[in-house]
Amino acid sequence: MGSVTVLGSLNVDLVTSVPRLPGRGETVAGGRLHRLPGGKGANQAVACARAGATVRMVGAVGTDEGGDLLLRALAREGVDTTAVRRPADVATGTATILVEDGGENMIAVTTGANGHLGDEDTVAACDRLGPGDVLLLQCEVPLDVVRRAGRLAAARGATVVLNAAPAPPPDALGLPLPELDVLLVNEHEARLLASAGTGGEGEGEPGADSAEGAARALAARNGCLVVATLGARGALATRGGAPEVFPAPRVDATDTVGAGDAFAGYLAAALARGADPHAAITTAVLAASLAVTRPGAQEAMPRHDEVCSIRN
Ligand code: ADP
Repeated sequence: MGSVTVLGSLNVDLVTSVPRLPGRGETVAGGRLHRLPGGKGANQAVACARAGATVRMVGAVGTDEGGDLLLRALAREGVDTTAVRRPADVATGTATILVEDGGENMIAVTTGANGHLGDEDTVAACDRLGPGDVLLLQCEVPLDVVRRAGRLAAARGATVVLNAAPAPPPDALGLPLPELDVLLVNEHEARLLASAGTGGEGEGEPGADSAEGAARALAARNGCLVVATLGARGALATRGGAPEVFPAPRVDATDTVGAGDAFAGYLAAALARGADPHAAITTAVLAASLAVTRPGAQEAMPRHDEVCSIRN
């Protein structure tokens, strides 16, 4: 059984609920301010840990109180944080989030320490990886670090999973990345990445304006498995041919924040356990669909026994 290393972002989420999102130049009165541990990397590390995997986080936070909050949250879940650096004089990354009644939101992210990842973190992420282990990457840290870590992990025989979120500018990721085993995207990211080098979203290969067409085009171009999540419709997976569809269970969705992170974490944990992609995606869909029934990001991540119980 392999382990999962997550190389990615850690952010303090500053969440304010508002009756409606403000317009340009407008001030609205907000409700209580919540300070919550977040960041795609850290959220996915928590999902992996709750899925039962041995997880190591590689990233950076400031020496401020926000950094303490994030490290405590990961340690509580049993995630190894010894490779999370704390560079001096840099603030912890922050996401300022306004959530409107009904769930619509606006988010501004300050990169902070996440932008300080470099070669030493790439090495830290990969030096213990071997066949059977999984390196899980996202796009909330410098993309050159993501690319180098992917290459190094693949050279060591590990499985490389890239969740291309938040959607990077189409040509910034430098696809194709031959070192990828799995490219995980939502519908928007699939279309955006499929349009790379074509000058616009959905203007790549014929049919690339649908999530299915975009996923097939991405798989053919990258020579890897592409998994596209489809919100309430579940997910699809393709290696370039006709996709396999994984429907989501019908649930009462109250908060979709962190759905993609739950999916990514459960997918990586299952692959590290030795599950085949079909079984791993099946579990990831169930876990993400459970996560949307609960508020928050990290605290909404389901535990393995809960996912098993809805499967049966
Ligand atoms: P992201 O949050 O990254 O945009 P999606 O919206 O595609 O990703 O959701 C990821 C996964 O979360 C889906 O594959 C599905 O399993 C689950 N999910 C999201 N929204 C719902 C919903 N309304 N009902 C059931 N499952 C959902």
